[in-house]
Amino acid sequence: MAEDPVSAILEDVSAARLRADVDRLVGFGTRHSLSAVDDAARGVGAARRSLRGEFEAIAAESGRCGAAALRVALEAHAVPPGPRVPQPAEIVNVVCEIPGADAAFAGRRHYAVAHYDSRASDAMDAASDAPGANDDGSGTAALLELARVLAPRRFDATIVLLAVAGEEQGLLGSRAHAAAARVAGLDVAMVLGADMIGDPSGPSGERTDDRVRVFSEGLSRALDERAFRAAAAMGAGCDGPSRQLARYVADVARRESTDVQPILVFRNDRFLRGGDHTAFVEQGFAGVRLTELHEHYDRQHQDVRIEGGRPYGDCAEHVDATFLAGVTRLMAATLVHAVRAPAAPPNARIVATGLAYDTTLRWDRVRGAGIAGYEVVRRATTAPDWEHVHDVGDVNEVTLPFTKDDWLFGVRAHGTCGYRSPVAFPAVARQ
Ligand SMILES: [Zn+2]
Repeated sequence: MAEDPVSAILEDVSAARLRADVDRLVGFGTRHSLSAVDDAARGVGAARRSLRGEFEAIAAESGRCGAAALRVALEAHAVPPGPRVPQPAEIVNVVCEIPGADAAFAGRRHYAVAHYDSRASDAMDAASDAPGANDDGSGTAALLELARVLAPRRFDATIVLLAVAGEEQGLLGSRAHAAAARVAGLDVAMVLGADMIGDPSGPSGERTDDRVRVFSEGLSRALDERAFRAAAAMGAGCDGPSRQLARYVADVARRESTDVQPILVFRNDRFLRGGDHTAFVEQGFAGVRLTELHEHYDRQHQDVRIEGGRPYGDCAEHVDATFLAGVTRLMAATLVHAVRAPAAPPNARIVATGLAYDTTLRWDRVRGAGIAGYEVVRRATTAPDWEHVHDVGDVNEVTLPFTKDDWLFGVRAHGTCGYRSPVAFPAVARQ
């Protein structure tokens, strides 16, 4: 069966359904993580049951069954008292896994993450209205829409759509999930955090409908001190796995000419703010954050009110479904490329045994069928993104006539179907 081109998948993304999802989430009044769990219509419990129901309906409509069936679950984590949790609490994530069809690749997990909890002005106020239309009803709606357009298709590797709670109380749901993934040794290949991707307008009337910021950490904070020092000494501070993922998003966006193009921000997140991608970054996984260009602080973490003639609150009318659909398409394109591509080549290294004018790179071959070959990418040490591509064929070693003193290198695999892996940044090795 021929694969759908990425463009056909992106065309399926519906602004109208995203609009309806955001409105439904707002309809729960508040989704504060400590709000009512038993109320049928209001609070975090009603919201998560609704999300589970939506994912289950999508699973049923997808026609998948048996081992290929979508796995939808509520994932509860007991949380001890903390700065924003006065008493022991239960934080419940909603997970929808689209299992990979190829046993050799199904272990590779590609995440989209958003938080479905919301907050009012006071982070502890679980009673007041907290519509959370944009923060992060927009990201949560994107997860549902991704499920709708991806579930009917078959991919080799696994996609995980993770709607977490407890973000506003301190990344509680995502930290619990990411830590468990690390303990279980899961192969988390990438994490796209979507948090505030629905409002293209800013506080002074400015508006950008065709760009989204992609935040990424430069050097992994999870490295031990020795690895950190070695990377810093070799000028590898801009080449951690999250930064490679950010460049991957940009590469896919260029190849697919998505309506919304990323602006890479070389920083893990904004000042004084957090996001769920960080929970995965802390565990050493590759994670980025997608957020609209302009922020409107009157619409974030604010009680809904009029004060001094100005409206406050994260209300549904500020979410632009067309823009949200554009960002959702960028996420879908990135996920589809990644799950159709081979994994990044393992054990990539620059061989440095003696002084040399050229550069020798080695890597381990990617397991499995469908590998067309490998590409070495290269850029100046001051360049933000890869500038040159060398198609080196189906080999696991190459020597290029450029000095490693002046260039940065990476290696990626490309599949027979034309999709490329993220770039593996080489370590320095003796062999
Ligand atoms: Zn948020």
